[in-house]
Amino acid sequence: MKSAAHQFPIAVFIFLAAAAALFGQGPAGRKTRNIIFVMTDGLRWEEVFNGAEASLTDKQKGKVDDVAALKKAYWRDTTEERRAALMPFLWSVVSKNGQIYGNREKGSDAYVTNGLNFSYPGYNETLCGFADARINSNNKFLNPNGTVFEWLKQKQSFQGDIAAFGAWDLFPYIFNAERAGFLVNAGYAPLTAIPQTPRLELLNRLKAETPRVWDDEPFDPITFYTAMEYLKEKKPRILYLSLGETDDWAHAGNYKEYLNAAHRADDYVRVLWETVQSMPEYRGNTTLIFSPDHGRGKAEHNKWRDHGEKLPDSKYIWIAFLGPDTAALGERSHIAAVTQNQIAATLAALLGEDYPADVPKAGKPIVDVLPH
Ligand SMILES: [Zn+2]
Repeated sequence: MKSAAHQFPIAVFIFLAAAAALFGQGPAGRKTRNIIFVMTDGLRWEEVFNGAEASLTDKQKGKVDDVAALKKAYWRDTTEERRAALMPFLWSVVSKNGQIYGNREKGSDAYVTNGLNFSYPGYNETLCGFADARINSNNKFLNPNGTVFEWLKQKQSFQGDIAAFGAWDLFPYIFNAERAGFLVNAGYAPLTAIPQTPRLELLNRLKAETPRVWDDEPFDPITFYTAMEYLKEKKPRILYLSLGETDDWAHAGNYKEYLNAAHRADDYVRVLWETVQSMPEYRGNTTLIFSPDHGRGKAEHNKWRDHGEKLPDSKYIWIAFLGPDTAALGERSHIAAVTQNQIAATLAALLGEDYPADVPKAGKPIVDVLPH
């Protein structure tokens, strides 16, 4: 009897351990084993939560040639319909099964803490978990800070591939790619790290040969489909993708292309999500994170085009989470503010790792995103 009583808990323990291994459960009871992290540069919370803005769907203020056509695409009478027309995946699957932070009109603030409200400081804050006064320009200088990905890569407990794809050619600097030791493919650089398929060959050709509207980044589809090729071939545990057009078209004052870029970003997130759910390596154990690097100014006086230190409103962002460990609380309202410097620790915590224990200046995880 005595020995049986002792054996029973051991048998239960072995069973639970086997079950956890079978279902790919990570440490601390987390189901998340893989992360898909998509950022789209400078997409305002205003469009994410309210859809197309009427005052900018306009010839003068938004350089819209065919106002009727743009309204047909994105204008709807209610806020709910409008935002669903602009970002259908976010406002169906993510809002139903995940969480979305940052609707200021519903008492949910999300903001960057770096005080500069532009790209390199925002990517550094997001990926490293803290603002750094030394990161004060968008110049090509190697990040002195390690990102949470570099930290994970060095951990014994984290085994697996990490890869980052960025439209913007600054990402090899932001990640300090050589030091970090994982693939960072960005800007117009061809992807040569995996076998050349006809599809990848064509993508590399398009990268090299299509006219360049911006010297520092190609159009988003080229970056996105390149990342997709890598995902299918290498099945990384962490796939990072940063899209750039939402920022570029806003700076150009082109509201139609800005909205189209936001719409495409949402659709790329959908394709990524549906693709990973169709792959046994990822199904049921992958968490998606979706956010911008900064916000933008208000529509008045064309401030929506810009962002930065002089536009305090451009510190406000939005952050979305979808995955097996995150309660389906949908669009968050009337809650404490969350900050960009919490994303890195939240990402690590989803994988069962305590990032702020090693990097005390990093923001703490957003607790509501984690299982209780
Ligand atoms: Zn910008």
